[in-house]
Amino acid sequence: MTSSPAPARGPDRVLRLPDTVRAVDFISDLHLAEGLRETFAAWERYMAATPADALFILGDLFEAWVGDDMRALPFESRCVEILAGTAAKRPVWVGLGNRDFLLGDAFAAAAGVRLLDDSAALTAFGRTVVLSHGDALCIADVPYQMLRQMVRDEAWQEQMLAQPLEARIELAAKARLASKAHRDEPVTFADADPEMARSWLAEHGADTLIHGHTHRPRTHAHEGWTRHVLSDWDLDAALPEARRAEVLRWTAAGFERLSPAQASADT
Ligand code: MN
Repeated sequence: MTSSPAPARGPDRVLRLPDTVRAVDFISDLHLAEGLRETFAAWERYMAATPADALFILGDLFEAWVGDDMRALPFESRCVEILAGTAAKRPVWVGLGNRDFLLGDAFAAAAGVRLLDDSAALTAFGRTVVLSHGDALCIADVPYQMLRQMVRDEAWQEQMLAQPLEARIELAAKARLASKAHRDEPVTFADADPEMARSWLAEHGADTLIHGHTHRPRTHAHEGWTRHVLSDWDLDAALPEARRAEVLRWTAAGFERLSPAQASADT
């Protein structure tokens, strides 16, 4: 018997969860890296214990991802294994951030996750929300938007991926140093553009936007719409008061911000 190969689906852009769903979790900006042990440990515990029926990771799961061949490295393969363990119990979607925009199909297959388009619409509990990493909304940061356009270009990515893994890792480290220096410039404090956010919501018939990227966790109640900004995860900060991590949980009752430990408790 012959069967034609399944057509490539591409990242998911419109999703509807079944009525049996009780809890949906959203996290982003974990910036997982080998040296950041506390953050990794909290994420590992959370991934093993969350009772959520679906999990959405909205970008920058990894501090750097320079191609899916990275999944064979010791730390990254451990992360892929953890994702696969969680994905075996409920669906997991991974969106691309500005640090890990090269996450691709080989990674998704190995981790058992689905890739998420940016933006994407998600319907559950009779409501529709729009999901994004958030960087595409920060349009006031013109230099960043030019960079974003460049690195999302297929030809640029092909050229990048043609280089040896070690060279790509080195390039990513240099780019991070450059962006840390750049962060001192006020323009990089650009926030999500409200007009663009509203047009995305209108396109999907939604009244709620969920994104990360800005590392300014807060729920903004606008006239007629709501914006949940996810927290970054940094439990390795030198100053205890700078340490933070959060899960946004959606249930029929609404949205709730939980610590990873609270989010891991069986409800
Ligand atoms: Mn980001």
